[in-house]
This record gives sequence, C-alpha cells and structure tokens, in this order.
Amino acid sequence: MSVTGKYGGPLPKGPWAERLHEIFDRLLAAFGPQHWWPGETPFEVCVGAILTQNTNWANVSRAIKNLKEAGLLNPEALFSIPRHVLAEIIRPAGYYNVKSERILTFVAFLMQEFSGDLDAAFSLGLWDLRSRLLSLKGIGPETADSILLYAGGYPIFVVDAYTARILERHGLVGDDVSYDSIQSLFMDNLPSDPALFNEFHALLVALGKGHCRKGRPRCETCPLAGIHLNP
Ligand code: SF4
Repeated sequence: MSVTGKYGGPLPKGPWAERLHEIFDRLLAAFGPQHWWPGETPFEVCVGAILTQNTNWANVSRAIKNLKEAGLLNPEALFSIPRHVLAEIIRPAGYYNVKSERILTFVAFLMQEFSGDLDAAFSLGLWDLRSRLLSLKGIGPETADSILLYAGGYPIFVVDAYTARILERHGLVGDDVSYDSIQSLFMDNLPSDPALFNEFHALLVALGKGHCRKGRPRCETCPLAGIHLNP
C-alpha cells in the first residue's frame, strides 16, 4: 500500500511531492493504518478536538466518557448546561474552565447559525467554514482543521507540533515556519484527498510520540532513519 496505490486524485510532481510520498509510505509500512479519529459521531469528534488541546488522549477519553454518561454529547444538551457544570464534567481533560468555555462557544455557534445541525455546517465550503471556525474564541488552526478533516471530511491537512518538529529536524523547514506554510507544503504536494490527509497526520503523530520526541529522539529505530529528505 502506498500513497500512489490507495489514494486517488491527481498526483503533484516534483521533489517535495516525492519526499512526502516517501515519508508517508515509510510510516504506513512501519505503523499501519491508525484508524483516526477515535470518535463515534462527528459531533463527538468536534468536542474531542477542543478537549485535546494541550493534553493527551487518555485524559480526553475520560472527559468524553463523562460527557457520554451524562447524556451531553449532542449540541442541544450542551447548549443548556451551565459552564461551571460542564467544567466539572470535563475536568479530566485539564484546563477545564477554558475548555468548557470553548466548547460552549462552539455549541452556541452551531445552535445559532445552523440550528444545531452539524450537517448543515458541513454543507458550507471548506474555506468559508474554516474562517467562521477561526473567528470563534479558542478555536485555532489546528483545532479548526481537525474538526474540518476528521468530523467534516474536508480535504485539509492538520498541522501540529510533531509535524513541525519532524520536518525541522530533517532540515525541510526552519524553526520559525508558520502553520500555514507547513499546511501548504502538504496540500500543494499531495493529492487533495481527505483519507490521505487523515492517515498522514495520524501517522506523523504516531512518529512524534514513539520516536521523534522533544528531548531524546529515537532515530536509531525510526522508520525515517537514513532517509534523505532535504531537497
Ligand atoms: S526520530 Fe530522528 S530519524 Fe525519526 S523523524 Fe525524528 S529526527 Fe528523523
């Protein structure tokens, strides 16, 4: 299985495209499909994308479990809950005061603009909905793009700290590169395919967690070891 074998769309050419394809193929061969995003419904994915800010997924899972048990994983139920009550329910995710406010801001947007209908929101064009999400307090590019890709199925690449670190350590980008520049690098050099973007981001997260750690990278056992990436 490779980027050229499984995923559709016209394949951009050039050195960047070749490097990204090689990275993807190596990661997929090493780690296999990651089956992201771990959420039962698109709305759960949206809430998870906010909860996962600045914490690990184990903590998010506990908060999601609490929300499910309280019957709150739908826009209507969350819209009527006081913020301090929601904060207690999502406490395991950390930063629960800030995150409860952000979730309620997102839910209010959904209720007021789309009568709580996520499908109606996802009927908008990619860049239109993205700019509306980015206008919400506490929704930055990574969260907005996670919602758009993993809940909405839009063809947009999610960038995170792991992605930037991996590219920077291989000399592909500078340490001051912007989110948008990294995103363009992937989107301009890969087929515009949500399934590919889904898998690629998840594989980069797996690489960042398992090998390309902040302090001591495990290059000796890394699937990208020895690969010549610098154009
Ligand atoms: S762990 Fe080493 S080889 Fe692997 S991506 Fe990071 S810097 Fe590259």
